[in-house]
Amino acid sequence: MKNREGFSVIGCMKCRRRIVADLSYATKTCICGNKIDLTQTKLLAVCESADEAGELLRRMQTAKNSGFTSANKIGGSLEKKS
Ligand SMILES: [Zn+2]
Repeated sequence: MKNREGFSVIGCMKCRRRIVADLSYATKTCICGNKIDLTQTKLLAVCESADEAGELLRRMQTAKNSGFTSANKIGGSLEKKS
């Protein structure tokens, strides 16, 4: 039995989102509905608190967005057909 503590930033294989997971649980369900096995997935970062992991996640996303902007994905209304 693995009993890990802390919070980790993981990547969802399905939607490629990065999310924060509580390592005291065995699985984490992504926003897209994909169930991620925390013992199988790659932990991008491990933090002691959820706040820390959240901050790290935000920094990762900011870094990513400054390179290849995917604002149309987030907003979804830029190419709205009327
Ligand atoms: Zn997902």
